[in-house]
This record gives sequence, C-alpha cells and structure tokens, in this order.
Amino acid sequence: MTFKTIDDIQDIHGKRILVRVDLNVPVKDGKVTDVTRIERVAPTIQELTKKGAKVILMAHFGRPKGEVVPSMSLSPIANSVEEVLDKHVHFADNCIGDAAKEAVEAMNSGDLLLLENTRFHKGEEKNDPDFAKALAENGDIYINDAFSAAHRAHASTEGLTHHLPSYAGRTMQAELEALEKGLGQPIRPVVAIVGGAKVSTKIDLLSNLIEKVDALVIGGGMANTFLAAQGIDVGKSLCEHDLADTARDIMAKASSNTCEIVLPVDAVVAREFKANAENEVVSVNAIPSDAMMLDVGPASIAAVNDWITKADTLVWNGPLGAFEIEPFDIATVSCAKHAADRSAEGLLVSVAGGGDTVAALNHAGAASDFTYISTAGGAFLEWMEGKPLPGVDALSKA
Ligand code: ADP
Ligand code: MG
Repeated sequence: MTFKTIDDIQDIHGKRILVRVDLNVPVKDGKVTDVTRIERVAPTIQELTKKGAKVILMAHFGRPKGEVVPSMSLSPIANSVEEVLDKHVHFADNCIGDAAKEAVEAMNSGDLLLLENTRFHKGEEKNDPDFAKALAENGDIYINDAFSAAHRAHASTEGLTHHLPSYAGRTMQAELEALEKGLGQPIRPVVAIVGGAKVSTKIDLLSNLIEKVDALVIGGGMANTFLAAQGIDVGKSLCEHDLADTARDIMAKASSNTCEIVLPVDAVVAREFKANAENEVVSVNAIPSDAMMLDVGPASIAAVNDWITKADTLVWNGPLGAFEIEPFDIATVSCAKHAADRSAEGLLVSVAGGGDTVAALNHAGAASDFTYISTAGGAFLEWMEGKPLPGVDALSKA
C-alpha cells in the first residue's frame, strides 16, 4: 500500500487544504456525548494550522439523504471541535456555492473552517463528479483523515482525489500502518480471534482470515454454530443450525490453507441470559440440553492465551462471551489482558476493532496497551473481510 502523507506536501503555509474528517459523533439533546472522534482528527488539524494552512473541514453527520435537515446540521458540532482544539472554528452553512466560497475567501493562514454536512447534497453519496468539482473549487489540496468513511465511494472520500493533489491525514496514516502490520505484511505467526453473536454476519470475514492467518480462534455465540456442525449438542445456546454447511466449509478451507481452527473445549453454561445467572463449567461435549453457553471455559481460555503467547501478531474482532453480563466476561477479559501485557512488553502487535469489541477491551482495561484499536466500525470490518476500500484505493492511486 503506497500513499502520500502530510510529510509529502510542499509549502503548506497559506494553502487552502480541504480535510475530510469523521465528525459523526453521538449527540443527545443537542449535546455531543463522546468527543473521541474529534480527538482522533485533532493531530492533523493542529499540525496543518500550526504550519499556516487554511484548514477547511468537510464531514457528514447522520443520514439526511441529500436534503437539508436542520437537526443534522454540523453547526453544534463546531462548538465541540472548538472546545477540543481550543481554537476558534468558523462555520459555513453550505459546503459548496457562495456560502463556502465567501467563508474560504475570508480565511487567514492558520484559520480553521468547518463546512456544513456534505450529505445535504445528493451528489455526495452518488459521488457526482460535478459535486466533487464544486467542493474542489475551495481547496488547493485534499487530505482524507476519515478511515471510517473510506469504505464508501463518496464525493468527499473518493471523488475529490480526481480533482486535487491528495494525501492521507495523520489518523488515516496511523490506521493504515496499523492494518498493514495486522494483515497486510504481518510478522508471523498471526492469530485472529473472532467472536460475537452470529456467524451469519461474519462469513466474509472468516473466509478472508483463514487465507491469511496461522490460527483462527472462534469464540462467542458463533462458536456454537461450528460445534453443532461437528455434531456436538449445544443445548439452548445461540446457534445458527442452518449455517452448518457454511461452518463445515470454512473448516475444510482452513485446513487446506494450513490455518488451525481453535474452537472452545469447555463452556460456561447458564439457564438464563442475565447477570450473575447460576452457571457451571462443562466440557463442550456435555452441555446440558436446557442450558446455553455464555462464555468459553478455563481450558479454552488457556488454549487461547497459549496462542496469544506464541503469536507475533494478533487481529481481534468480537468478544469471546456475553461480556456485557458478569461473570460471562471472564474469557474476554482474561485474553484481552494477556494480549495487552504481551503488547506492552513489545512482544505482540495487536490490532482490534468492532463496536462491541472496543467496548469489551475498554471494560477489560486492556485498550490502551493494544498496538492499535480501530474505532472505524464498518470500514474496519470491510478491511477484515479483505474488501477494497474506495477511499483508501483512491489515495494510493492519486
Ligand atoms: P463487534 O460489535 O465488536 O463486531 P459483535 O456485534 O459481532 O461484535 O458481537 C458482540 C455480541 O456478541 C455481544 O453483544 C455479546 O453479548 C454477544 N455474544 C458473545 N458471546 C455470546 C454467546 N456465547 N451467546 C450469546 N451472545 C454472545
Ligand atoms: Mg456489534
């Protein structure tokens, strides 16, 4: 993967730089409740403004479907950007046309401007070349710092690269470098942990991983589908019996790719899906017919931790158990902590992502020691599925 970074830009001072960022932050009652995404793009913005660029931020917010929807205006988010960066943010109430043009013309070097929601125009999601051109009129350079939007070929993520010299921002750069270490050019052995509720949402991901990793640990609810496909009675566990063929297919392909599939050997079972439900540890061959597996057991944890110890690289998506309800978080927490310790000692490159996975790693207190945690959601999963990401491909072609 080759792409240009901010280091490749000559003469930043005074240049109008259009920067695509992810400001799709959670908002409740008009207030931003989590500024993580703003903090993630802060380094790029600060570097560019310090170097004297006119920094023009483009972003989407919600799904206005090409209409002007006042409740999806980015204007309140400008205040949060101001607070996080401790810097005045100008705002233009249209991302193209006179409003944008006048706001950009009024900028001085080092100023920061936020343009209104790009999705207020139909041309954004359609990747309409005229719309991309209208956006490009206000910039000399384009920087994409929104990996989380890179799985979509939109005007502000892909179209602009056809009009302006294009570069990856610092956050995009860090994400791409981490992903490259995870599955692109990893140090072997590489182990993947895939958990979560269902196989059906992760077929593409599993199929891609078995071609790339040395061992694939399958945990969470989806492990039941694999166990059942081997004739094991999983009782009342969450299980997609209709995917037995798919599961067998994945296992067969794994063995021809010399990827070892690591399934749980024991289970923590309960009769109710609730916190502190009465539970017991049983072999996977002895799951009572009225019980369900809510976590993998201690022997399985030991096997996963052995693989983590053996590995030089770990890629993780999906918790090993129903980590939201105690004590069924034990396997996820134990393996997360072990991976965090190995990473902190410099013995493991660990890359993880997925909404619930990030929550689980935070819950385990392991997140800060992981090599890289992706907050990108859909784009991260499509990367794990081995799919092309138009926003990234456009940067490497540009
Ligand atoms: P991510 O959001 O990181 O991609 P998923 O959404 O695929 O992860 O999976 C997370 C969900 O899987 C959690 O809500 C968790 O409770 C559930 N889960 C994990 N193990 C089990 C299990 N054994 N039975 C039922 N649900 C489970
Ligand atoms: Mg999820």
